[in-house]
Formats: sequence, structure tokens, C-alpha cells
Amino acid sequence: MSETALFASHPNRRQFMTVLAAGSAAFALSSLVKPHLVHAAASGPFTLPPLPWPEDALSPQISANTLGFHYGKHHQGYVNNLNTLVLDTPLADQSLETVIKATAGKVNQVAIFNNAAQVWNHTFYWNSLRPKGGGKPTGALAEQIDKDFGDFEKFKTEFAKAAVSQFGSGWAWLVKDNDKLAVVKTGNADTPMVHGQKPLLTIDVWEHAYYLDYQNRRADYVAAVLDHLINWEFAAQNLAA
Ligand code: MN
Repeated sequence: MSETALFASHPNRRQFMTVLAAGSAAFALSSLVKPHLVHAAASGPFTLPPLPWPEDALSPQISANTLGFHYGKHHQGYVNNLNTLVLDTPLADQSLETVIKATAGKVNQVAIFNNAAQVWNHTFYWNSLRPKGGGKPTGALAEQIDKDFGDFEKFKTEFAKAAVSQFGSGWAWLVKDNDKLAVVKTGNADTPMVHGQKPLLTIDVWEHAYYLDYQNRRADYVAAVLDHLINWEFAAQNLAA
């Protein structure tokens, strides 16, 4: 799957109308209370992409309970916020990537940037995970990791260290920066694409990603993801894209 296919996010009025027709209760509600807010939450140019696997597929490393909140409440919340924020602005007609790049570093558009980048980061995170993942990369990606980090174990140590040491909320990433692979961490909603880096993999280290399953033990969550869930095929596809 290409990045373009993953993150394509265009207005789909027909789908919206179908949803409205099906959701008569929501439609009735929208005429009674705060129609603007109901409309914004139910529609808009940006949609929540489906998870690439069932909600219980990452158990026991990440529980269905965590995913229910993380995907169903947090990720959906960023989508809803973004749709509300871009309503009746020129950004409503742009792709998600364009919105992120257009608002990055602009003090009067911080809220739009934060929600747009969080929509993108989470979709990228779901695809960075898979049931029966972990292990080691192969092929060109494995060769480049050996070249740029020394060997796979050194990469893994550096990636885990970045994920554990990110102070507060944020993300750890494997990126391609010019011609070299690098491990970077970003705070809050920040994302490598606005720093000229191409993301290959990410781990969400916001507390909402692990607190229900691991409480304060972020290192245990990171180790479980690296050993059992990380999706090296997705990283290889991103490197080749
Ligand atoms: Mn998250």
C-alpha cells in the first residue's frame, strides 16, 4: 500500500449523505441541538481510516481496551477537531499532508496543525504495527540499517532509548534523512515530514498509548512493540516508495 493510498483524504459527499440517511437519529438530533457541532463531528473532508487489523489483534501486547480508546476516541477526536477547525476555510479542500505542511510553525494555526498531524501520525502508527510483527527487517532495509547503525541490535537499542527518553508526550521514529537512516523523536503532534525527513516507522509514546496496559512502564510497552508488533514490511515499503 502506498503512502498516497493510506492517507488519501478527500471530501466524499456521497458517503456522507449515505451516513446521514442511515443515521436518522443523528440527523434528527442535528436539528435539535447544536447542529453546527453535530454536523462537524459527523462529516467534513477528513475521515478516520479503518484500522489495518481487528481491534483485538494486537493483544496481549496492546489490548482491545487500549485500542478502543486510542483509535475510537483519541484518533477519532483529532479527526473531528480538524473537521471543525477547517470548516469554511480554504484548508477544507486540501489533502491532509498539505494542511500539515501549510500550518507547521504558524502560531495562529497551531490547533489545526496539532490535530492534522495527530490524524496523520496515528494512521502511520497503526500501519507501523501488525499482529505477529517484530523480528528483523530483511533485504535493502536490513542492509541500510546495518550500514547506518552498525547492526540491527544497535538500531533497536537506539530506537528504544529514543522512545523511552522522549520527555512527555510524543513519538519515536525511524526516518530517512537525505540518504541516511536515523532515529528521531518528536514532541506532542510534531512529525518528521515538516522537517524534511521521510518516516519509515513510528511508536506512539503518549501515555494514552500504553497506560491502560502498562501504567507507567513505558519501557515495557516499547520493548513489547519492538519484539512482537513492529511492522518491518511497512518500513520496507516506505523506504522503497
Ligand atoms: Mn496516540
